[in-house]
Amino acid sequence: MTAVSQTPATESRHDWSRVEVRALFDLPFPVLLHRAGEVHRAHFDPSEVQVSTLLSIKTGGCPEDCGYCPQAARYHTGVEATKLMSTDDVLEKARQAKAAGASRFCMGAAWRSPKDRDIPKVAAMISEVKALGLETCATLGMLSGDQARALREAGLDYYNHNLDTAPEFYNQIIHTREVQDRLDTLSHVRDAGMKTCCGGIVGMGESRDQRAGLLQTLANLPAHPDSVPINRLVQVEGTPLAGTAELDPFEFVRTIAVARLLMPRSMVRLSAGRESMSDELQALCFLAGANSIFYGEKLLTTGNPDTERDMALFARLGLKPMQAVEQGTTVHADIVATDAASDCCAHSSCAA
Ligand code: SF4
Repeated sequence: MTAVSQTPATESRHDWSRVEVRALFDLPFPVLLHRAGEVHRAHFDPSEVQVSTLLSIKTGGCPEDCGYCPQAARYHTGVEATKLMSTDDVLEKARQAKAAGASRFCMGAAWRSPKDRDIPKVAAMISEVKALGLETCATLGMLSGDQARALREAGLDYYNHNLDTAPEFYNQIIHTREVQDRLDTLSHVRDAGMKTCCGGIVGMGESRDQRAGLLQTLANLPAHPDSVPINRLVQVEGTPLAGTAELDPFEFVRTIAVARLLMPRSMVRLSAGRESMSDELQALCFLAGANSIFYGEKLLTTGNPDTERDMALFARLGLKPMQAVEQGTTVHADIVATDAASDCCAHSSCAA
């Protein structure tokens, strides 16, 4: 117990050691949830949950080899590659999202990185979505500094780019790019003045220490991500990670709680994998400090609980959707859109 930090709930740190993070993971379950709940209540109304959905603007056909991802062209998962959606079609989805109460609209494309010729097209989408009065978010893969600045100038508020897993486990999951590539993109995003959405995936066969390593790396970034999506692996037939041993659900809750403790002011989001979670497991996650969910029919290419089930769960738990924050004053990341058709773990729901 001596390694467990007594950091006050209001303090944000960027110097967590692995030993400290691991000690939090190892706390007795009720003690960990109690501490995480205290920190949650110090920074948020625990009755509010931010709801987000995600639109895939370009699905499948990705040249990367992320072992969990059905959008990688090299895996035979039945996901059909599509071209980049037209701006008109994206705008129609954005209007629907706004009419459904969305405040933010996230656009995901299954690219290793956008080509420079793609940037004006995406920039046009961003500008027009912004003109609807929505905040904008995108997840397009790796960005150069120039690309990040161009997207920012077009009005992009948030950029999603996940770390996926602990640095020492990364090369067992992805071989076509390095952790440093991801860190560089996050740096370009921050330098361009955008907010970051960055998390990872658990249940990929990593150890508890490696889960601690993922959260340690996220918390020690120069700025805590505004949103921290924690994905539970959705095993898709045809991907290398199909057949991985299931993660103990309590371990998933522990991961949420430790994320809340390390990044007290971030939105901790239940992302991919929620469809297979029981209502009771989701309730435990909310107790552990989760305060954001992806919402809608599809999370890229994998399923998501339907909206009726989500609203029924909210009603049973006395939760309410977090209201939109006035533009320009928000301090919390989040993403809202409509349905989606791809499952770019790497990008938005899991990890790009
Ligand atoms: S996670 Fe993203 S980068 Fe990785 S294969 Fe899937 S679409 Fe490509």
